[in-house]
Amino acid sequence: MGKANVIDGKAFAAGLRQRVGAGVAALAAEGGPKPGLATVLVGDDPASDVYVRSKGRMAAELGMASFDHRLPAATTEAELLELIARLNLDPAVHGILVQLPLPRHIDPAKVLLAIDPAKDVDGFHPSNVGRLGSVAPGGPLDFPVPCTPLGVSMLLQDVLGSLSGSDALVIGRSTLVGRPVAQLLLRADCTVTIAHSRTRDLPALSRRADIVVAAIGRPQFVRGDWIKPGATVIDVGINRVAAADGKSRLVGDVAFDEVAAVAGHVTPVPGGVGPMTVACLMYNTLQEARRAAGLPFVAV
Ligand code: NAP
Repeated sequence: MGKANVIDGKAFAAGLRQRVGAGVAALAAEGGPKPGLATVLVGDDPASDVYVRSKGRMAAELGMASFDHRLPAATTEAELLELIARLNLDPAVHGILVQLPLPRHIDPAKVLLAIDPAKDVDGFHPSNVGRLGSVAPGGPLDFPVPCTPLGVSMLLQDVLGSLSGSDALVIGRSTLVGRPVAQLLLRADCTVTIAHSRTRDLPALSRRADIVVAAIGRPQFVRGDWIKPGATVIDVGINRVAAADGKSRLVGDVAFDEVAAVAGHVTPVPGGVGPMTVACLMYNTLQEARRAAGLPFVAV
């Protein structure tokens, strides 16, 4: 067992959910609306079904309304766009989540563009991507921010307090994770390097970093000798690998035991970033419900 503090994302996410639930109750007490989350699932992918169910269940647990839309795999793009147009106009709906992946005949970019940016609780609409890209250092995040990156940034701020001046390395440049994480760290006054598959000498870059965020999708890719002693390592990766007993298990993008022997703080997989994603979705839904009622964002 290493010496790093193992960041308990599960506990932090439980606390965040509890605070969001309290925020929902406070909004009702202010005469505000009941936050409503609409989930849309096209087709019957079993993994997507599990995700959508758990999101709906969590919304209900926090006192929100949840609207579950199931469409057959043969649904046309026009039909899906029509549903989104209806949800955009529905005052009971404050967040719209279209579960990806969509069937091949539907263009996800078109679907994303059709969602009202004020209801885009995934934070992927180009308008929200642009707002995150142009936010001032320390400026308000008064728009939906992608959930997993928001969760990463909340964990880092909880563990480290101020991130100002830290050297941060983000491994991965996807629009889903790497880029928005980098924008959030820049906003928090880190000096940010974004690495990807063409980066030269990644271990050397990593050894300079005070903060390493791994969002690669390769099991146990980041090794112990890449880490500066005392650094903070956030593992976003979720990889299913074969286990010795013939079953499978989840591992991250970080070789946990090696890294934990050197790092100051490290997230485990599972139980690190994973639980933050859905908690941040609830956080975004609450904030958009407040905004729809003309109320300011609240820190919870
Ligand atoms: P992605 O779209 O596949 O992006 C992976 C990134 O890693 C790309 O930018 C890629 O570089 C880079 N990369 C691949 N091989 C590399 C290498 N050898 N050296 C350096 N960089 C390399 O994946 P993603 O959607 O960002 O997801 C990343 C991981 O996070 C996955 O394991 C995913 O399951 C997990 N994830 C977890 C959550 C959660 O809730 N915890 C949410 C979303 C994703 P190029 O751009 O050059 O190809």
